[in-house]
Amino acid sequence: MRRTTSLLIGLSALLNLGIWGAFGPTDIALASLSVMTTTSDLEAIVREIGGSDVATGAFCKGTQDPHFLEPKPSYMVKANRADLVVAIGLGLEVGWLPSIVQGARNPKIAPGQPGYLEVGPLIKPLEVPEGKVTRAQGDVHPEGNPHATLDPIRVGEMAVAIAKRLGELDPPHASTFSTRADELVKRLAEKTKRWQSRIDRTGVKKIITFHKTLTYFFNRFHLENPAILEPLPGIPPTVRHTLDVIQRAKADKVSLILVENFFDSSAGERVAKDVPGMRVATVPVAVGGSDDVKSIDDLFERLVKAIEGKGSNG
Ligand SMILES: [Zn+2]
Repeated sequence: MRRTTSLLIGLSALLNLGIWGAFGPTDIALASLSVMTTTSDLEAIVREIGGSDVATGAFCKGTQDPHFLEPKPSYMVKANRADLVVAIGLGLEVGWLPSIVQGARNPKIAPGQPGYLEVGPLIKPLEVPEGKVTRAQGDVHPEGNPHATLDPIRVGEMAVAIAKRLGELDPPHASTFSTRADELVKRLAEKTKRWQSRIDRTGVKKIITFHKTLTYFFNRFHLENPAILEPLPGIPPTVRHTLDVIQRAKADKVSLILVENFFDSSAGERVAKDVPGMRVATVPVAVGGSDDVKSIDDLFERLVKAIEGKGSNG
């Protein structure tokens, strides 16, 4: 502990001399906290709130399905060095995060400790099933839909919760973290109004997706999601279900399918072939999900553009 402190003092002395740049990467060495997040969206939030005071990393890339991740030993090494792990919870990471946390041999990040934070339960989850959930319903999350970072307003709420926890772990920076969270909340609230009016102008009201990834986005922007290409959550499309989706799309006059880009778009294309006027677009659904999506703001911008029929596929 003592050694670390004197090392940090040494580092800040170097920084003050302005010669740190000569020594290479700065994040881990200079930041007061090291934070690992489960998803790239959460990392983007932590990065904005933490600034240069926090070093960040994410286990799941924006191009990967966050339900299924292979827990590699390198993730455990990263978790071993972390002061805080931020997860969505709500069952999203249940298949892989526990083994990373366990393998990390870092008591700070055990569930229940200040170094472990699940933000999903804090933001009023949608689609919390009523009654008992059985395996027959597919991969349903008993605590609600976990894809909550697809709502810019809930992203703000998560940012506030994250800022609070970062401040508890690093009290000297607490007010900076909370100011940054407030700015993020305000900015995304303003942008949400503009995104809403752009979506309204397209006339698109109903959208089909592959998985219930965009539930929070649809809920926020008053869009309907009358059909899903998966017959049940986590179960790949079948011929029979695809025919049902075609019927539904015709009956409901749906004109747009958005396929999350880590899923196969062929079932979507199959539906579009049979439904006149149907458009299919593949979309990133997380930060880093495509090269042009580097921030939370970029992500919503990209989704709104896909509804407008602008921007590249992918
Ligand atoms: Zn899901």
